[in-house]
Amino acid sequence: MGDERLLVVGGGLAGARAAEGARQAGHTGPITIVAGEDAMPYIRPPLSKEFLTGAAERDVVDVFPADWYADERVEVLRGVRATGLDPAAHRLRLADGRTLDYGRLLLATGASARRWRAPEGELAGVHVLRTFADSEALRSALAVGGRRMVAIGAGWIGLEATAAARGYADEVTVIAPEAVPLAAAVGSAVGEVFAELHRANGVDLRMSTGVAGIRGEGGRVTGVELDTGETVPADLVLVGIGAVPETGLAEAAGLEVRGGIVTDASFRTSADDVYAVGDVASVYHPVLQSHLRVEHWANAENAGRAAGRSLAGEGVEYAEIPYFYTDQYDLGMEYSGYGTLADGIDPVFRGDRAAREFLAFWQREGRVVAGMNVNVWDVNDQVQQLIRSGARIDPARLADASVPLERLVAEASA
Ligand SMILES: Cc1cc2nc3c(=O)[nH]c(=O)nc-3n(C[C@H](O)[C@H](O)[C@H](O)COP(=O)(O)OP(=O)(O)OC[C@H]3O[C@@H](n4cnc5c(N)ncnc54)[C@H](O)[C@@H]3O)c2cc1C
Repeated sequence: MGDERLLVVGGGLAGARAAEGARQAGHTGPITIVAGEDAMPYIRPPLSKEFLTGAAERDVVDVFPADWYADERVEVLRGVRATGLDPAAHRLRLADGRTLDYGRLLLATGASARRWRAPEGELAGVHVLRTFADSEALRSALAVGGRRMVAIGAGWIGLEATAAARGYADEVTVIAPEAVPLAAAVGSAVGEVFAELHRANGVDLRMSTGVAGIRGEGGRVTGVELDTGETVPADLVLVGIGAVPETGLAEAAGLEVRGGIVTDASFRTSADDVYAVGDVASVYHPVLQSHLRVEHWANAENAGRAAGRSLAGEGVEYAEIPYFYTDQYDLGMEYSGYGTLADGIDPVFRGDRAAREFLAFWQREGRVVAGMNVNVWDVNDQVQQLIRSGARIDPARLADASVPLERLVAEASA
């Protein structure tokens, strides 16, 4: 196995970490990353935060320094997409006509921004935010200052870009059909904290509101028409309506795909020697005993590395607790847990919600299944320990900030 060629399709964070994981596991044969974008692997979180606000430059997004690839003998084919996979022949076809044979192959093709329907979505001034180029374009547009932006969608991307836009003194209106932002991800009680944060920063939040269409003149956006008939004027529109997993190659090759490419806990797909990881993969989680597709940085980082080890022949059973974070204005948040188990449960709060310095815990049958810390730092390991312990914990003690978290962890782990 050690001498075979490993092929990684997709040069995002998951793909780059997989190459690293394979080398760490002792794979000595060639490793090639087919990177569809004309860029070395980069991370995306800064694209809606410090790069977009102008607080950081391009170098913050590199996964590895340029010489890492030569040192580790990892070849990166930039700007060429894979167009066909033949698992029986162990062969990958590229858009430029080349074919590459492999011993094992990893699909790390990620996801793409869901776009607004054409021709409205193609008007000048209408943006999506997924790639470095998207972020650069939006940053230049926002940096003019004093512009009117409408964000369609109140998810993580829409809200983070909104916070960045307010930093440039742009006026922002957010339009979304749900009653409370982020309610689907973290529930209404926490979603309200984000709603208040944005309102306090001068954002016009129009919730429970649908969009009838994006309006333009002479090929340029002029506004967003609401389902009430009102049109909100706009110089810029950010379409933040989610991402679509890039499953096309896998589907055409006959792999099992259900929302994402289906894998076991070792990232093996339904085709021999083909693996999948990152935003595109729906991976069996041994704790949940069901498949989970996670669109977050930590999953690409940790599962990516684990998939590389698996690809190199190491026995891997991936069972990490999902984790994600956000930064908006002066609010930083980390969340660990099983969102599917926390769904519909009212959290227990610990700390000062009005001051936006608190923890929230979601419990099922007394066991912590998810936890979040907002502007409280160095506690997420403890949150994860509480979840991992599976112990029943008195919610009154979880809520009582005078009971140290360390003590709760010690009791839960005893
Ligand atoms: C703006 C932004 C901000 C984010 N902020 C956060 C955050 O704060 N916290 C958090 O937890 N997560 C965040 N995320 C999510 C996180 O970035 C993703 O979960 C992560 O990028 C997934 O990595 P990936 O490698 O699986 O996929 P991707 O990063 O999507 O990389 C996949 C790569 O594969 C390429 N590709 C696709 N098809 C082909 C093909 N056929 N041939 C060759 N190449 C192909 C794509 O072009 C892409 O370069 C953010 C995402 C975005 C877009």
